[in-house]
Amino acid sequence: MKPTRALVIGSGFGGLALAIRLQSAGFAVTLLEGRERPGGRAYVYEDRGYVFDAGPTVITDPACLEEVFALSARRLADYVTLLPVTPFYQLRWEDGTRFDYVNDQDELDRQIARISPPDVAGYRRFLAYSQELFEEGYVKLGAVPFLSFWDMIKAAPQLAKLEAWNSVYAMVSRFIENEKLRQAFSFHSLLVGGNPFETSSIYALIHALERKGGVWFPKGGTGALVQGMVRVFEDLGGLLRCNAPVDQILLDGARVRGVRLADGEELASGIVASNADVVHTYSNLLRDTPRASEGRRKAAMRHSMSLFVIYFGARKVWGDLAHHSVLFGPRYRELIREIFRGPNLPDDFSLYLHAPTLSDPDLAPPGSTAFYVLSPVPHLGAAPLDWAHLGPIYRDAILKSLDASILPGLLDNLETTRIFTPMDFRDELNAHMGSAFSLEPILTQSAYFRTHNRDDAISGLYFVGAGTHPGAGVPGVIGSAKATAGLILEDFPQSRSAA
Ligand SMILES: Cc1cc2nc3c(=O)[nH]c(=O)nc-3n(C[C@H](O)[C@H](O)[C@H](O)COP(=O)(O)OP(=O)(O)OC[C@H]3O[C@@H](n4cnc5c(N)ncnc54)[C@H](O)[C@@H]3O)c2cc1C
Repeated sequence: MKPTRALVIGSGFGGLALAIRLQSAGFAVTLLEGRERPGGRAYVYEDRGYVFDAGPTVITDPACLEEVFALSARRLADYVTLLPVTPFYQLRWEDGTRFDYVNDQDELDRQIARISPPDVAGYRRFLAYSQELFEEGYVKLGAVPFLSFWDMIKAAPQLAKLEAWNSVYAMVSRFIENEKLRQAFSFHSLLVGGNPFETSSIYALIHALERKGGVWFPKGGTGALVQGMVRVFEDLGGLLRCNAPVDQILLDGARVRGVRLADGEELASGIVASNADVVHTYSNLLRDTPRASEGRRKAAMRHSMSLFVIYFGARKVWGDLAHHSVLFGPRYRELIREIFRGPNLPDDFSLYLHAPTLSDPDLAPPGSTAFYVLSPVPHLGAAPLDWAHLGPIYRDAILKSLDASILPGLLDNLETTRIFTPMDFRDELNAHMGSAFSLEPILTQSAYFRTHNRDDAISGLYFVGAGTHPGAGVPGVIGSAKATAGLILEDFPQSRSAA
């Protein structure tokens, strides 16, 4: 029997994981990517011997990746080497305080005690709470599709027990007194597009996830992980087509019948899964259909902030540096409010600095360091700024501040810079309002209230990636691929036997 064809639009981690899952299950999958390289937000830039991962750099829960490779009896380790990162992060404040967030409990206790001795005991209680969240929110519900309100009702007792209506910051503050440590244990939700003051406390599970599974970095960069996944997919017989932007999803009444590419080519299939932005999918790819109204509804939901990213390489090596640094600015709560709400670009910033050559020196020429620095900024709906004009000015301000603080001598040794602004998220990734993480992960936009992994009205249409359940972040979108693949296998069980 000829295998059933399935089309996946977009090769982000979610699209790639879904494509591998379906191909492993016996479907004939074509993965259609609009850009010239796979990876989506995990794109790679190269310049003058420097290799820059564009997006995700903190790889957590390697087990969820291993599971994708194991579907076809392969091992992740045969495709990419994951290097442990320690400290997980180094946090720095403007008054010179530092906090090395490490996995070793004794050392972590010492780090906490250096800032606030009474918080050592409170931290232990926070860790226990985070571990409970991890079991309930991630292990049990992280890859389960929420298709009906009943699914939500079933989960309600657990959510109530864990006080999921409270914010991450509120729950952290219940256990920890010191403001710097509250920041240290609440900023993580920003990594998946959530405001720690508004995102459901469920996202405090990220702490337990990191403590349990560690923080890793692929040898060769996150791009090497993308390449490893592409290789498995192709080894299994899957077809990746880059430079193949989809212009329209084609319907036959209330059924999917394929897609039309921007160049007019049509591909037929009764199964189409979109890893592209959810507003883009409903509003543009399903334009002129009754489902376009869903695009307007999704557009009216709250979207995560955007990011301003500078990729830069310098002919210098700094001794006193960690792979991942978080540089807190003078304000926390107020800054985050302005980042999520606008209406202007705040004058101050808090930064995440990525120095991958600390783990893998091959990512830069000898004697040099590859970096990226990101500043969370409002999306274009909250602050419709002209980034073509503002970008270089903002870049210079950030590089100057790095030169004056953590990277002395940077400006004299810069060899290459490139920026990525909210307008690039919008134009290159079709991200609604240039959001870096899709729908904001607040309780009323999570689980059942998020984009369903299977469309409610069009049969054969599925979603995968940051805008679906469970949400953004590499483990999140890998979990969404598991949920979506499960639904496709349920709907097309005969394809399984064709494998
Ligand atoms: C700068 C940055 C840093 C981050 N750091 C981390 C981190 O350290 N750890 C972590 O876990 N997460 C991190 N994240 C979040 C994480 O990267 C994302 O949530 C995740 O990678 C999104 O994956 P996705 O499957 O939703 O697809 P995406 O990566 O959003 O990819 C979607 C793909 O669809 C394609 N596409 C769109 N429209 C079309 C079309 N019409 N036709 C064909 N193709 C189309 C796009 O080109 C793109 O390739 C970071 C994000 C950013 C932006």
